[in-house]
Amino acid sequence: MVDADAARRISDRLAAVRVRVRSAAEACGREPSSVRVLLATKTQPLDLVRAAILAGGTLIGENRVQELVDKGPGLTDLSCEVHLIGHLQSNKLNQVLPWATCVQTVDSVELARRLASRASDAGRVLDVMIQVNVSGEESKFGVPPASAADLVRQVVALPGVRLCGFMTVGARSSDTDVIRSGYARLRAVRDETVGSAMAGTADAVELSMGMSDDLELAIAEGSTMVRVGTAVFGARPTP
Ligand SMILES: *Cc1c(COP(=O)(O)O)cnc(C)c1O
Repeated sequence: MVDADAARRISDRLAAVRVRVRSAAEACGREPSSVRVLLATKTQPLDLVRAAILAGGTLIGENRVQELVDKGPGLTDLSCEVHLIGHLQSNKLNQVLPWATCVQTVDSVELARRLASRASDAGRVLDVMIQVNVSGEESKFGVPPASAADLVRQVVALPGVRLCGFMTVGARSSDTDVIRSGYARLRAVRDETVGSAMAGTADAVELSMGMSDDLELAIAEGSTMVRVGTAVFGARPTP
């Protein structure tokens, strides 16, 4: 159990994040409820994750499959959705399906095929997002924006997965114009996808973008899901 002070801190910080989301949405004429808050819980212990859900969090994002597997069983009594938001290696695929309702980091057709086949075997349809590298930074995963349409075509043809949108990690920059234009690029990919009216693209509406430091910029560019870690949990414990 976490002590009452720690639980209150998390609850207060989550409330503060919701205020930021609301202000940012209203500032650009959007409905605040059109932006969901995903709690990025990497390296956070189970009891803090539970405290955040009890404080009203409904959506959890884990980066590593091992953390998904370690914390998953301790969350089944609570009502929350769990997404994988970190890079997925194909030898870990089996362990993802029982715990995640959505894999946000699909960036190759091989990965999509494998997930689709596992999901079909399990009699499920798995939600996926395509990860796009909007900044072009070499350290980042994701397909280049110019290759996204190709991957979309291949993913929507697969039974076993449902394409529900796009995810990106914003540019590492102090220049807000650079960060914003990256987010605008992801929105353009989403708009072109849905606008194509191709079968299987109608649900691809989510834009998972924006983190603790830049969620206002992402919301201004249409984010439907901000992924927030430190703003709710404080500094991450070093693993
Ligand atoms: C850690 C992480 C976040 C949250 O970052 P904060 O700056 O702590 O809010 C969001 N998305 C991904 C993919 C992450 O790895």
